[in-house]
Amino acid sequence: VKKAGRRGIRFFGPEMNENARVRLGLLNNLRQAIQSDDLRLVFQPRLDLHTGRIDSAEALLRWNTKDGPVSPEVFIPLAEEGGLIHALGDGVLHKALSAQRQWSADSHDITVAVNLSPRQFAVPDLVERIEAATHRLGVSPERLEIEITEGVMIQNVESVRRTMYALKELGLTIALDDFGTGYSSLAYLKHFPIDILKIDRAFVCEIPENTQDVAILSAIIGVARALGIRTIAEGVETQEQADFMKQVGCDAIQGYWFARPLDSQSLLDFIHRHDVRAGR
Ligand code: C2E
Ligand code: CA
Ligand code: CA
Ligand code: CA
Repeated sequence: VKKAGRRGIRFFGPEMNENARVRLGLLNNLRQAIQSDDLRLVFQPRLDLHTGRIDSAEALLRWNTKDGPVSPEVFIPLAEEGGLIHALGDGVLHKALSAQRQWSADSHDITVAVNLSPRQFAVPDLVERIEAATHRLGVSPERLEIEITEGVMIQNVESVRRTMYALKELGLTIALDDFGTGYSSLAYLKHFPIDILKIDRAFVCEIPENTQDVAILSAIIGVARALGIRTIAEGVETQEQADFMKQVGCDAIQGYWFARPLDSQSLLDFIHRHDVRAGR
């Protein structure tokens, strides 16, 4: 580390400004992209390990700029800081429900899962917005799932519980995303109406070599089953991992081994091919 003298300040100052300028530029581009509807959704199907069917797909947001794709891990936080997250989230909900309607029209009653950041979950009229959107697009709320992280549950506990029960009342499914990272606690499963546990990729990627991960995974799945909560393993990349998940009683898998995220029409084509392979 350089000594923080006058020269140091002069050295680091412009660099910081440069960084802030880049972010501001990106934020302006993002605002523009939202206005001109340049963001799109892709959908990653999940395989139900009991039935061998595709029963749901997760909606993931994509932003391709002229300088290449920007990761949602970069632009979602940026949208939150820049006050764009609600406009962005409304667009995601609209596109996800439109896709669901397209699949249903093709007689594939696939549930669509949408990610909600803690800040999106905290909108006071969230339930009304979701209800209005499903109504507007003619999609049954039973075909909509939301994925939230534990970050949601460390906010105002009572109001979060109320919102979750109102969403359940509507008919939505609630999934707890990235389980096992951060401060995940089994107590969440008791205090909140969680239908699905999504086991984070971090516990899956070293299966089956890592015996600690094998033990942790089996335990999480055991607890979830005992509580009547479905489990989905994320980031399943190999046949071995898929076989392992089935063997330990995991309900569904999602990951590159089964399918990459696909656009809405490609997902339908994928489902058709999958059904043909399975002789349906
Ligand atoms: P996530 O919800 O945990 O989503 C799973 C991420 O893992 C996705 O990255 C997906 O493309 C990737 N993935 C899926 N299968 C595999 C696999 O087999 N191996 C590996 N290595 N990766 C896999 P993506 O699309 O880059 O999204 C990153 C994060 O951005 C998401 O993590 C989610 O937290 C957030 N995100 C994406 N779309 C939205 C959105 O519409 N709204 C909000 N609030 N957040 C979003
Ligand atoms: Ca997710
Ligand atoms: Ca996840
Ligand atoms: Ca994640």
